[in-house]
Order: sequence, then structure tokens, then C-alpha cells
Amino acid sequence: MIQYEGTLYRPPSEANSLILQATIGCSWNECAFCGMYRGKRFRVRKLDELRVEIDGAREQLGARVRKVFLADGDALIAKTSYLQDVLALLRDAFPGLRRVSCYASPQALAIRTTEEMTALREAGLTQYYLGVESGHDAVLEDLRKGVDGAEMIRVARKAKDAGIKLSTMILLGAGGRDLSLAHARESARVISAIDPRFVSTLVMTPVEGTPLFDRALAGAYDDLTPLELTRELRTFVAHLDLSGAIFRSNHASNYLPLGGTLPKDRQAILAALDGVLAAPGDADFVPEHLRGL
Ligand code: SF4
Repeated sequence: MIQYEGTLYRPPSEANSLILQATIGCSWNECAFCGMYRGKRFRVRKLDELRVEIDGAREQLGARVRKVFLADGDALIAKTSYLQDVLALLRDAFPGLRRVSCYASPQALAIRTTEEMTALREAGLTQYYLGVESGHDAVLEDLRKGVDGAEMIRVARKAKDAGIKLSTMILLGAGGRDLSLAHARESARVISAIDPRFVSTLVMTPVEGTPLFDRALAGAYDDLTPLELTRELRTFVAHLDLSGAIFRSNHASNYLPLGGTLPKDRQAILAALDGVLAAPGDADFVPEHLRGL
């Protein structure tokens, strides 16, 4: 049906979505830890190519398509008029369509105006996944995100003002050992200022072909222990001040799967983390993807 170009990535919660590559690669492609699109030259795909794929998916799946995820790394960087055309094709093809989402880089959020994002939301693009990674300026610089914490807040709030549901990610371990707790506190400060609908944490892992991997090979990377990561996560959760968000720490890279609604479940989550910190020997520190092997 759809001939995907290169390796396809999508958030865990888009497992049941139809994935369409509106763009190839990531226009930023600089983040030190990210190897997802290193081998791809960024481009926006031709509308006619997408039309063919959408027609094919309509014939095969039709009304069964409820969710569409627009890949690759930051489809939001494509022109608003182009995305409106894509969304119109999707609405026509899939009568049961309930949600269209995409990754949004901070650079794309800086370019898109609130009015443009509002128009896209009204056309069906209602949710963005934003890798905040850290709220600590030195960590963000080290990660080569291209923005500091203040700019991350500013661009994310533009999307919120447009009525977009934001799903934000923080990278545990990104500050190394020395900045671990400062990274946690600053990340909580920035996420609280954004006040997104979803918050998740992932554990940073050096991926071959990235500057972070080279740093790890050179011995200049702190591989935090599960206990250190738990302490960092505890500090992050304790400092969050959110009006109402779904929190998940259950990506395959996380050692301890946790989740709930914040602020309602904060005490229960903190109690679970305190339990691990008090008796680390009892914890099941096996990454989720290795459990049951
Ligand atoms: S903006 Fe996202 S997709 Fe692009 S390099 Fe950074 S982490 Fe990777």
C-alpha cells in the first residue's frame, strides 16, 4: 500500500494510527542525541504523492481510519496551505477520522503563527508531540536543541493559545550526573509553564551515528544508574505544577513504568518512587522492552 521512505518513527500512542509521510526527515536534524533522520535529506513531499497514498488507504481501510500521524520529524514546518490541503484530503477520504497529529520541532513552532495553528486545528490537526527534552539552558545547549528554556516556553504557548493538545517529552539523564537534579527542577519549571495535556519521560540513550554516541565512546557521557534516574524522576514530578495532565513514564527506555493524572496522582507516584529509593533492591529495574525475555 504505502511505500514508506526510510525508517519510520512515531510516538508510542500512535501505534494504531495511519502514518503518512508529509515530510521526509527533520528540517533541524541537529539534536545531539537524535539519530532518527540523520540519513535523510529534509523535504516536503509532493501533494500528488500523498493523494495517491491516501486514495490507496481509503480503498483498503476507509472508515476504519480514526487517527492519522503525519511523519516524519516535524511536519508542522511545511507551509500552512500545504497542510490544509493534506487535511482536506484526509477528511474526504476517512469519514471516521477523529484526530490528526504530528511531531513539532521548536523551530517549526517558532515559524507558525498562532493564527496558522488555529486554522490547522480547525482543519483537523489537533495534537503535536514536542520534545522539550530539558528545561535547563546548559543542557538544552549541550543537546543542540537550538532553543533555551524561555524560547521553548514561548513557542509551546503559541500552540496552546491555538487550542492544540501538546504532548511533551523530557529526557531523563540528559544533564549527566552533575546536573541531574538541576535538569529535573528546570524541566519541571518549563513543563509547568507550558502546562501541556500530556507529559512523558524517556531515558536518554546514546544511539550510533550521533554526537552523543561519539561522546559516550570517548568516555565523556554519564550513564546514570536506574537509582540515579529514579531520583531525577522523583525531583521532576515533585516540582511539576500542572492544571491537569496525563503523565506517563512507561516508554520502552524507562526502567520503572509509572503513570497517572497530575496533579491528582502526584502523591501516589511520589510514594512509588520513594519506595524504590528506600528499598532499591526490591525494584524491578528491567527496561520494559526486555521484560518477559
Ligand atoms: S527536532 Fe526532533 S526529530 Fe529533529 S533532530 Fe531534534 S529530536 Fe530529532
